[in-house]
Amino acid sequence: MAQFRNFKMVDYVIYGRGSFGQLDEIINPRRKDNLPMIFLVDHFFEGKSLIDRIPVHNNDKIIIADTTYEPKTTQVDKIAKDLKEEFGNVSGIIGIGGGSVMDLAKAVSLMMNNEGSSADYQGWDLVKKPGVYKVGIPTISGTGAEVSRTCVLTGPERKLGMNSDFTPFDQIVLDPELINNVPANQRFYTGMDCYIHCIESLQGSYINEFSKSYGEKALELCQKVFLQKNVWDDECDDSLMMASYAGGMSIAYSQVGVAHAVSYGLAYVLGTKHGIGNCIVMNHLDEYYPDGAKEFKQMVDKHQIEIPKNICAGLSEEQFNTMINVSLGMKPLWENALGKDWEKIMTREKLRALYEKL
Ligand code: NAD
Ligand code: ZN
Repeated sequence: MAQFRNFKMVDYVIYGRGSFGQLDEIINPRRKDNLPMIFLVDHFFEGKSLIDRIPVHNNDKIIIADTTYEPKTTQVDKIAKDLKEEFGNVSGIIGIGGGSVMDLAKAVSLMMNNEGSSADYQGWDLVKKPGVYKVGIPTISGTGAEVSRTCVLTGPERKLGMNSDFTPFDQIVLDPELINNVPANQRFYTGMDCYIHCIESLQGSYINEFSKSYGEKALELCQKVFLQKNVWDDECDDSLMMASYAGGMSIAYSQVGVAHAVSYGLAYVLGTKHGIGNCIVMNHLDEYYPDGAKEFKQMVDKHQIEIPKNICAGLSEEQFNTMINVSLGMKPLWENALGKDWEKIMTREKLRALYEKL
């Protein structure tokens, strides 16, 4: 008998311009005893007006999160340890930022109630206990981290998420006003993460009507904002925020594909960030996603984005081998992209040649 995934979703969703203003009333019933709410905020907002709108009460605390690098297990462990030392425990963790802060907030919430290091839980269904109440408030759209059941962390041995039914947020606040000021380049890279999720999900062998219905809508919204519209206005922010959500829902019940599998190798060896790495790879995927790669290039041209080139020039044999190992290790992604016989199609030599082109 086929085994169908029974997946856990985010419990509560609020969507709308200005909905951030309801945060206080949303989280108040979740306050416990004298335990504080912790607001984990992307360092971009330090000194900005959004900080003054955070509903801080009593011993609540705002922690500024440095997102220069993507989240690490050491960073998660340190925040959780400091919070345990200072407060014993907390009422909740509220993440305000892009995908990096979404993942950091989910991971810290889990580590408030689980022993050891977050590195112990990188993998599938290893987390033992639910975390504390957690809220995700995205300020960049595209990754789908607001709806996913993972939080991607770079650990001592691997870059892998804490995938579990305890990982999704209890609440998300989708307020398109918050993504208003994202610089055009960053908006493009993170937005393309969503576009690529759609292409990989829709063209994958795991596709089903559930994933398709979300993926097609997200794709349509990406095409509208990145190709059809000529000026970036509020409607674009409204649409991109929903595209990210729907794109995330689409891959939740299917899988990503070639761009992500290859990009993970880049991230591991070169530290290339998720959005930009996916774009670097997508620029060379005409063979696997002919229509998607073509449309992607139209979007790049229209938005006058310079996709980095020759990033693998000068890498050692060892580095290439590591990259290939990391990438080929992402078995479900390859199977989704190329079918059951993917190992015959994506040989080490073929992947090496692809890396050399990037
Ligand atoms: P990000 O969170 O790394 O942020 C990118 C930059 O934008 C940072 O410098 C940040 O300070 C800045 N920034 C944030 N909000 C801003 C705003 N409103 N205005 C101006 N600047 C702002 O970027 P991202 O692309 O959203 O997230 C990437 C991360 O998401 C990676 O760590 C990746 O692993 C993770 N990810 C997670 C999932 C998941 O399902 N959990 C899926 C895809 C990606
Ligand atoms: Zn992605």
